[in-house]
Amino acid sequence: MLARIIGPATGAAVFLFSAFALQAEDRAAPSGAETARPPGVVTFTFDDGLRSQYDLALPLLVDYGVPGTLFVVSDFADTADAASGLKTGKAQVFMTWDEIRAYQAAGWEIGSHSATHPHLSEHAPDRITAEIETAAQRIAEETGRRPAAFAPPYGDFDARSLEIAMRRHSSHVLAWDETGTGNRIASLDPARIVRLEVGSDMAPEIACAEVLRAAREGRWLVLMFHGFVEEDPGSYEYATGDFAEILACADYLRDAGLVRFATVTDVVEEAAATN
Ligand SMILES: [Zn+2]
Repeated sequence: MLARIIGPATGAAVFLFSAFALQAEDRAAPSGAETARPPGVVTFTFDDGLRSQYDLALPLLVDYGVPGTLFVVSDFADTADAASGLKTGKAQVFMTWDEIRAYQAAGWEIGSHSATHPHLSEHAPDRITAEIETAAQRIAEETGRRPAAFAPPYGDFDARSLEIAMRRHSSHVLAWDETGTGNRIASLDPARIVRLEVGSDMAPEIACAEVLRAAREGRWLVLMFHGFVEEDPGSYEYATGDFAEILACADYLRDAGLVRFATVTDVVEEAAATN
């Protein structure tokens, strides 16, 4: 029955969850446990503002009621063609501002991923400033809000770009977690938020196990996705069916009270208020 609800491929996660629940029984039950906050926090983040994120992922996110942070590239959205789509066969097709606003309507935060997606560390401060400020202004004009979260393209940054970005944003979200230690809300550095990339080589069971690990270790797990395809994902792509399994698993762990979902800025503000 359980397998039918959450999907057969999440069986490994159910096993892990069962092991975790048994361990939890050994600990003293906290008073008022029914109102306790879940120990883990999970944030879904999508980069680049791709049309496939709108066509294939947004309907699933709405179904499961999952918020997150979408990092858009303002020039890509400015030049996106509403008539284009997956049918063109082009791997890089971008969302229009209308489609980005649909994400906003679904409870997603719209963050900045620069104006033209350059390697920021390779440019002079004037260009870095223009990239970051132009994107912030265009996103504010189109969404009604200046973006609070910034993700440097390719996860590439240096001390200058970090400083320029943090003057205009409340967080700086990196691409990969080279330390492997994840984020801890109690000691969060908002300038160095790390993410786990979920690419085609990561099975949904593994991603689900990471969600469970965040709950077990009381961490903030930030997942990074790029494009979506129905089948045969390449690099920087993920299969929609596998994504649905990750959502089903995360939803199951949310219902079990082990994790909650939030946007990047929700967590950054929570950390600022409590640290
Ligand atoms: Zn990118």
